[in-house]
Amino acid sequence: MSDKQIELPALITIRDLAQKIDTSPIQIIKNLMKNGVMASINQTVDFDTAAIVAAEIGYEAVLESQEAPVEKETGEVPLWRQMIANEDEAALTMRAPVVTILGHVDHGKTSLLDAIRDANVAGGEAGGITQHIGAYQVEHHGKPITFLDTPGHAAFTAMRARGAQGADVVVLVVAADDGVMPQTKEAIAHAKAARVPIIVALNKIDKANANPDNVKKQLGDNELVPDEWGGNTIIVPVSAKQKSGIEDLLEAILLVADNAGIRANAKGEVIGTVIEAQLDKSKGPVATLLVQNGTLNTGDIVVAGTVHGRLRALFDFRGNTVQKAGPSVPVAVMGLSELPAAGDVFRVVASEKEARQIVAERVEAARKQAGAAKKMTLEELFARYKAGEARELNLILKADVQGSLEPVVNEINNLGKGEIKINVLYAETGNITENDVMLASASQAIIVGFSVQAEVPARRLAETEGVSIRLYDIIYRLTEDVEKALKGMLAPEFTEKVTGKAVVLVVFGLSKGGKVAGSKVLEGEIRRNGKARLTRGKDIVYEGEIGSLKHEKEDVREMRTGFECGIGLKNFSDVQVGDLIECFVLEKKEAE
Ligand code: GDP
Repeated sequence: MSDKQIELPALITIRDLAQKIDTSPIQIIKNLMKNGVMASINQTVDFDTAAIVAAEIGYEAVLESQEAPVEKETGEVPLWRQMIANEDEAALTMRAPVVTILGHVDHGKTSLLDAIRDANVAGGEAGGITQHIGAYQVEHHGKPITFLDTPGHAAFTAMRARGAQGADVVVLVVAADDGVMPQTKEAIAHAKAARVPIIVALNKIDKANANPDNVKKQLGDNELVPDEWGGNTIIVPVSAKQKSGIEDLLEAILLVADNAGIRANAKGEVIGTVIEAQLDKSKGPVATLLVQNGTLNTGDIVVAGTVHGRLRALFDFRGNTVQKAGPSVPVAVMGLSELPAAGDVFRVVASEKEARQIVAERVEAARKQAGAAKKMTLEELFARYKAGEARELNLILKADVQGSLEPVVNEINNLGKGEIKINVLYAETGNITENDVMLASASQAIIVGFSVQAEVPARRLAETEGVSIRLYDIIYRLTEDVEKALKGMLAPEFTEKVTGKAVVLVVFGLSKGGKVAGSKVLEGEIRRNGKARLTRGKDIVYEGEIGSLKHEKEDVREMRTGFECGIGLKNFSDVQVGDLIECFVLEKKEAE
């Protein structure tokens, strides 16, 4: 048996498959596209398809005996938070804050998690070897803090997308020598969307080229104004390498946690989130569960997603057997029949029979839901708002330059003062990428681009994910549209229909200025009255209108596959040999 053998169910979502074979959902979607299969991240594929994808990543897939679709908890507020809100006030007691660490790659997330664990593990077993179970607990002045130690946005996004977000505090690691980077901004957007307070760990403060003031300024520009400058973001300088500043960071976490009133009923109904799950050669399925309300006991019957079982043993992160785990305590458990998915909600039920019944209902619900990708257009969002299902309009803004970003954000914020709250999750310069689409999908947001393009893979992903991308180049059109959407009277959307594609073979200069692209039509037709998009490698270099179309010296209306023609692009002369010109027309989208 190869080490990389993996058990997969008969049906699995792309998201869960990605987690199991340790790759990104985007990578899988790309692989599927190469094989002619268009799939969205929440879509279910069958075992055969999953096995092909797994093989490309180096795993040999074998079929599990039972299918295991995922549970989906809906609603903006996680179920466990709703449950705690319904508990009797007198029964609530403080629990340890649950902290997750986010930040740009290489800024020191792993190092910081290690430094915190080494110095502060509760119980003080100096030098004791801890087990990796996906979470651990430390103590600071006798108060416990739980850390989720699988850093990275993928896990956080996956948990959020299931509405099962578990963290109370986000520690955002920013390297003092590198500053705010794209993933830092993404992390801020995620934390904001999940309404989780952020503490900044300003790491690598030991480095000679550390520039804390510059980083603080950048953070301020991203709505994390340092408290020392009158804002309300705590920024703690640390060095994970020299293990300095760690105590201050823990102090800050407890301070934020105290303000947030993080409580639970240890005697209440048991609910929590699956942090991770692995198949252990000798123990069978082992899952790390984070208890969020109530107390989990050995012998309890648990349902997690569509998996259930009687808990045979509980282990803490030191590998010690424990009998029970209260709120905020992570435990690895043995006894589940199969592996649940990270982010699944678990509960304790009264009997095996009840467990089987719940699982059967969930399997049925998941089957009904499979394939029905959620549409999140402006119109839809507004309809949901009216129906009381959505409280705000989440937007992701992309603009060509910082200078145009600010006025756009200001305009939008002004609009948001009316009846609906507009929440700008993320405003950044640059083209619209797959990452933006992922974030929009996880946060049910709409992407608005101002004088930018959506990259081709991003367009495809948006299509499969049902994410709405709107592009503008005049500010009032954008604000007008958002305004109309808010009033529920948005004009119909247009969809793009590609009519043909041509490759540039030679470039001619015209005596009166401008350039003509001597091109060959590769497929479909190029239309004189169509729009054009010019791509060079992966980049979209131009999008606009076709200014002229000639065959030999004659003006023509259209040019078909196999013919050569001269294409002039309006207001664009930087055309180069090898560029691809795609011709498209806009068609009114039928109301659905
Ligand atoms: P992650 O990708 O965010 O998990 O970052 P890592 O924890 O893997 O750290 C990336 C690199 O930065 C590693 O080479 C670390 O040794 C280094 N590093 C992390 N923290 C510090 C620090 O406080 N000071 C210095 N000088 N280097 C650090």
